[in-house]
Amino acid sequence: QKRRDVELSTLAAMTMEGKKIQLAANISSPADMAAGLRQGAEGVGLFRSEFLFLGREVPPSEEEQFAAYREVVERCGNHLCVIRTMDIGGDKPLRYLNINKEDNPFLGWRAIRISLERPELFHAQLKAILRAGVYGKVAIMLPMIISASEIARARECVARAATELAREGKAFAADVPLGIMIETPAAAVTARELAAECDFFSIGTNDLVQYTLAVDRGNPAVSPLYSHFHPAVLKLIDGVVKAGHERGIWVGMCGEMAGDPLAAPLLTAMGFDELSMSAPSIPRVKEVIRKLSHQSAQELLNQALSLKETDAVRSLVEEYREQML
Ligand code: PEP
Ligand code: MG
Repeated sequence: QKRRDVELSTLAAMTMEGKKIQLAANISSPADMAAGLRQGAEGVGLFRSEFLFLGREVPPSEEEQFAAYREVVERCGNHLCVIRTMDIGGDKPLRYLNINKEDNPFLGWRAIRISLERPELFHAQLKAILRAGVYGKVAIMLPMIISASEIARARECVARAATELAREGKAFAADVPLGIMIETPAAAVTARELAAECDFFSIGTNDLVQYTLAVDRGNPAVSPLYSHFHPAVLKLIDGVVKAGHERGIWVGMCGEMAGDPLAAPLLTAMGFDELSMSAPSIPRVKEVIRKLSHQSAQELLNQALSLKETDAVRSLVEEYREQML
């Protein structure tokens, strides 16, 4: 298997008909880059920037963030590095943020909500990302979006960060793409409207499944109910890809579903441009994509979208895999 992985790392993630899907890496720190590159990741589709903010007394400075982002951007070479702005909240308390104890931290003051209300924190992060953009291709991704006005406000913050960098005489990249995570049902349902306001989508299935099914992603008591094969989740995801493509923006996925080889035929048929996953999943997913023919994947997707139960969808994709092997 190891030898097969090495072989796969140099091959494209391409269907039998030659349609290519970009397979990128999810990382939590610059140290994760090595594993992604070893598996042939084409860039980073999700850099969880939280690691810079957690477990410390004061927020990271612009310089400190710049150093971390620059390292990752440089190591992506010609490929895109998507940096997600900080996604923290009440489940991960931070001394310098003074988050009140919340009954429902996953429904609370977190992610983009904090960034927009603590502009000094957001400002330093945006400046650091724009500066890192000088060293390669970088994109900004906003977590937990529920409405277009949040994107507009974030865009204003990006413009302000650029203005200040210019005034300070620091080098920075202009025209850095601004994308959003689709990880709330609100964002998925209004994807058409949101697509008009941003440059790309990346679907975060970990949260999208949690919020769509009202099933806590970390609670073992309800984990049997937690599945990205639930028909409601599949329909939302399919709609998001269509909405993004109708508006001419690229659509990726960076939740766990992107790294599930069983889901790969469905995602390929939906037309994803990019799938971002943890390094070990890259060869598994690539292997499946390279065996896919469009027509059979499309038939599978049509069938899956007509099913009413999670278990039925799972059986269908398992059967498909057996036939493929
Ligand atoms: C997601 O929600 O799917 C996602 C990728 O973000 P995180 O797992 O960091 O919440
Ligand atoms: Mg998430």
